Amino acid sequence: PRNEAFTFNINSSQRFSSSVAGEKESLEFQAETKQLLDIVTHSLYTEKEVFLRELISNASDALEKLRHMQTVAQDSECADSEIPLEIRIETDEVNGTISISDTGIGMNRQEMIDHLGTIARSGSKAFMNDLAQKASEGEGADASRGIIGKFGVGFYSVFMVGDKVEVRSKPAFNKDNADPLVWSSSGVGSYEISTLPEDVGQSRGATLVIHLKEDQLQFADEKRVEEVLKKYSNFVNFPIFLNGNRL
Ligand code: ADP
Ligand code: MG
Repeated sequence: PRNEAFTFNINSSQRFSSSVAGEKESLEFQAETKQLLDIVTHSLYTEKEVFLRELISNASDALEKLRHMQTVAQDSECADSEIPLEIRIETDEVNGTISISDTGIGMNRQEMIDHLGTIARSGSKAFMNDLAQKASEGEGADASRGIIGKFGVGFYSVFMVGDKVEVRSKPAFNKDNADPLVWSSSGVGSYEISTLPEDVGQSRGATLVIHLKEDQLQFADEKRVEEVLKKYSNFVNFPIFLNGNRL
């Protein structure tokens, strides 16, 4: 029997409802994104550590994009042109957080909406299609187990381990000279975008701060994170630092 809960309309148009309150703007996730987030958040998939692979690969992509732009643009057009291209990871056991920052291309407001609020990436679409297919064959919710690993769900995999995620960003190329922004969400229903307070001090690129779920505090432990990073960092062409030490 066909399970209606797992019937997805991948091609429906993107609808956003937004409300602006001062500097803080609240936006609804696209319908398909909500479904994907619900699956990821409640997944019993055991290899939750893959979120680090996804975030390192996004950081590396952002640095590659910047490196490419630097070959075609003037240094003076690039924000903080003196800072090196690198990835820094910080663990904080006291606050139960892990943060991943890169000095790459960054995101402006529209890019945050387009890339973090909707399912643009082909991997996530393939995931949703495969899930709908499996569900229609009667596999129901268990269908998500194998396919999170098979496709990877990119950025959204942070919600396997985090119950609140912040993405701070200062775009490398920022013609309008807009203030650095912070995108934040608990992965349910909506997300907020607001101006980053000046005292936070975000330099070029992006910083993800993940507030870990009670049962995922292992990722605030430096030793555990080092072990995971060693698995996934081989193919990254930029220096990676963990709590200030080069990996
Ligand atoms: P994919 O990497 O396959 O495109 P993801 O879900 O991993 O899909 O990421 C979605 C998009 O979000 C990326 O394509 C990129 O545009 C944006 N993004 C994610 N992380 C970063 C980052 N650290 N810096 C800049 N943009 C990012
Ligand atoms: Mg990715």
